[in-house]
Amino acid sequence: MELVSHIHRVDGVQGNCYLVDRDGLVLIDTGLVRNSKKILACIRDELDRDPRDLELIIITHSHADHTGNVAELRRATGARVAVHEADAEYLAGRAAMPPLTGLRGRLLAHLLSLWPAEPVEPDLLLHDGDRLSGFECIHTPGHTPGSVCLYDLTLRAVFCGDALLTKNGTVRGPPPSATPDMAEAMRSVRRVSGLDYDILLSGHGTPLLKEASQRVNDFMTGLGG
Ligand SMILES: [Zn+2]
Ligand SMILES: [Zn+2]
Repeated sequence: MELVSHIHRVDGVQGNCYLVDRDGLVLIDTGLVRNSKKILACIRDELDRDPRDLELIIITHSHADHTGNVAELRRATGARVAVHEADAEYLAGRAAMPPLTGLRGRLLAHLLSLWPAEPVEPDLLLHDGDRLSGFECIHTPGHTPGSVCLYDLTLRAVFCGDALLTKNGTVRGPPPSATPDMAEAMRSVRRVSGLDYDILLSGHGTPLLKEASQRVNDFMTGLGG
């Protein structure tokens, strides 16, 4: 579904994934495993592009509901894969994510383990302040050590992964049961709240398509910050 000009969300995938269609074609996140056909069909049928036009897959963080189709999509398209350096070892399957605690956290970790993502060696390691394909990479750790938000000044959009969630026009913080370092995650939200943009595209829930930076500021104000 085209959300706004140049930005599409792939329908029917668990974990939001977004296609940004400009000169080059970029995919942000890939959803849970076994969704690659839907993503490829969206590129072909909705965008009317060849899957080999996909230049880059950017992963907002290495949870399995965002990385499930990276390996298959790279094989199908030849796209390069970018992830923040602090999440790269998880994507490559060489390290285990910081453990989730509490009953809900352990349950969530168990559920994610039922849909493991095929390990992928990234092609590009991201750092705070890097610029690629029109996006600025903003390191927003807390939900995972290498979580990033992708800020696009031209589109006036922020792709925030799970650093922030949106639901029914409201903004929420990252999911507590899936966020091992909530204090750090909220410091990251503060960084995002200092930016100027209209559109907020989160890893779960319905994207905010207008007045997004104001809503994020309202959320922070509501927390007393
Ligand atoms: Zn996550
Ligand atoms: Zn997620």
